[in-house]
Amino acid sequence: MDGILALCHFCETHGPCVISCTQRSKEEPVQTPHSLTVPWCEACQSIDLSQALLSRDSKTCYITTRIPQQQDLAFLLKQAAIRSLSCEEETSKDGGTLYFGDNERGHVISHTFILRDSLARGFHRKYSILMLMRDKIHLLNSWPMLVSHMHELVKELQMQADAVNNAEQSQMPQRVVRQSQGTPRNNARSLSQLTGQPAVFGHIHLWFTWMLSCETIVEKPIFGLPMPDLQSLLSLRELALNWDVEAFRIVCFCVVTGIPIVSESTEIVEVFQVLLPTKWPPLQNTNKCILTNHNGWIAEWSGELPTKLPTLLSIVEKALKNEHLPDSALTPYINGVVLRWFHIVQSLYWSKNSNNNQLMQALGVQSHDMPLINYWSYRLSQNDPKKE
Ligand SMILES: [Zn+2]
Repeated sequence: MDGILALCHFCETHGPCVISCTQRSKEEPVQTPHSLTVPWCEACQSIDLSQALLSRDSKTCYITTRIPQQQDLAFLLKQAAIRSLSCEEETSKDGGTLYFGDNERGHVISHTFILRDSLARGFHRKYSILMLMRDKIHLLNSWPMLVSHMHELVKELQMQADAVNNAEQSQMPQRVVRQSQGTPRNNARSLSQLTGQPAVFGHIHLWFTWMLSCETIVEKPIFGLPMPDLQSLLSLRELALNWDVEAFRIVCFCVVTGIPIVSESTEIVEVFQVLLPTKWPPLQNTNKCILTNHNGWIAEWSGELPTKLPTLLSIVEKALKNEHLPDSALTPYINGVVLRWFHIVQSLYWSKNSNNNQLMQALGVQSHDMPLINYWSYRLSQNDPKKE
């Protein structure tokens, strides 16, 4: 499932409810009467149940409806709305962003906010924007992009509601009216009325469409690279324990950053290649590392090892030398670490045009990881079918 974005509201009559949601689809929605009934009042009104707002690019439709066409999705979204507006509530006055979820109910990033309304209980109404996805890692990778755009949309809605509110207050201050008459009975107002924008749901549809079309949100299949074999790391452990530390580090660093290794023994070079997700060829036109054996292996390389090695290598070296980590656990452990860095590089590769620094921070990438990231991204770009 691609992500689905929703606007939710805490209705004073109906409680937490979804008032509009946008999702991607390959086809236009079919015109079938909706079998679901949802409570309806002025406050939780948006677009009609039988209507849809639709935007389209060359391959994809972006559809906004009152609730999702798929009944199971409608149920999950309703649950998420309840959690975001009640149980998982952020208490700060400005609202807040949080993550919750599990594999059964889906994973959610929720941003709660309030809009001023002179007629509401407490003089404000509560809303939330949700992104619901099946894939937790994918959702969290999109966090920086999602949050910054949720904030921008909310800021705009709040400015509009403040303007309406200020105009009303200057005509008839509601605090004074309430003190003399009590809370008015029929005080439900729609988002269009609150913001003074009759087309506010069209506007939200465009925001959501734009967010769903961002590269980080679109789930893409892995291209060109098979899952790595569970390669045995036992020989690498042997080398780590018996080689000169400096020589071992140089060869590891060269392998993960694409520097070619020249050696009479191809077997030795292959042992180090377990540090790559797949057997990529090294870079060309760069200084080679020459590996020779004279009563012990020597690595000759004109480059210099950085003071801090890429995180992947620090983890690997520690694991190889950890005598409490048995051989049987070593292989899956290190293959897992390599895969994790492969996924990080993929996330960065897909999103290279948007908020890369924030994304790198969220993924835990530091400057000493860049030589590895650069080489792996380059190899990914060579495998990218879009570039053929
Ligand atoms: Zn309602």
